[in-house]
Amino acid sequence: MSNLEIRDLHVTVETEAGTKEILKGVDLTINSGETHAIMGPNGSGKSTLAYSIAGHPKYTITQGSVTLDGEDILGLTVDERARAGLFLAMQYPVEVPGVSVSNFLRTAKTAIDGQAPKLRTWARDVNTAMERVDMDPEMANRSLNEGFSGGEKKRHEIVQLELLNPKFAILDETDSGLDIDALRIVSDGVNRYSAQGDRGVLLITHYTRILRYIKPDHVHVFVAGRVAEQGGAELAERLEAEGYDRYVKAARAGV
Ligand code: ADP
Ligand code: MG
Ligand code: MG
Repeated sequence: MSNLEIRDLHVTVETEAGTKEILKGVDLTINSGETHAIMGPNGSGKSTLAYSIAGHPKYTITQGSVTLDGEDILGLTVDERARAGLFLAMQYPVEVPGVSVSNFLRTAKTAIDGQAPKLRTWARDVNTAMERVDMDPEMANRSLNEGFSGGEKKRHEIVQLELLNPKFAILDETDSGLDIDALRIVSDGVNRYSAQGDRGVLLITHYTRILRYIKPDHVHVFVAGRVAEQGGAELAERLEAEGYDRYVKAARAGV
């Protein structure tokens, strides 16, 4: 049993106008075996939360803690966080010309396991993972994310999830830009991952539609840099009907 614990997290970024606080005291605990959804309007700081946990250098933690099984991860490098069992699928995956998908996956797997995967089984595993998300095996030879469609980038992230099999997966708008078939394929991938039973998912999304395929145990409404409301799957349904307006107004009024 593992847990990822975020306590009173405050995060700033440097902008042209000066230092701006984006996260204003986030509290969230994810236990292994649980799927949490973070939902919230644009600009509420959802991606900032994901990047901060992953260790993106642009984001400065000014207060609070993030621990994995009680161990502080904020002092770890990005690589060390991955080795500790954290995985982040970014809202906008980076394109890396000259690095093939196949090389990238192998390098990532080697870094995380501390040893290179066995050549024979590895090739088969990569193939299987790609087939499962309906990705053309030819794509393994292409440069990472370069010229990939939105859907291909997201499928590739599910391939990574499957092969790297982290303890906790943070998926930032994995549903954005997907058509209905791709949404189902990507959701099936996330569900396969969490069906292992001892994995934790933090699913960040703007829309409720992915939650028709992935059933969250907990839903958090994220507004103005903090969790404004928490509930079960029924909260997502309420948001679908009512939108974020109520929470945005309350946040503005400082309630
Ligand atoms: P969300 O993912 O919920 O849409 P973000 O975390 O992307 O929200 O952004 C939250 C707020 O922080 C926005 O106002 C955004 O413009 C600002 N922000 C995020 N990252 C940066 C950055 N690197 N530089 C300047 N502003 C940023
Ligand atoms: Mg956004
Ligand atoms: Mg975002």
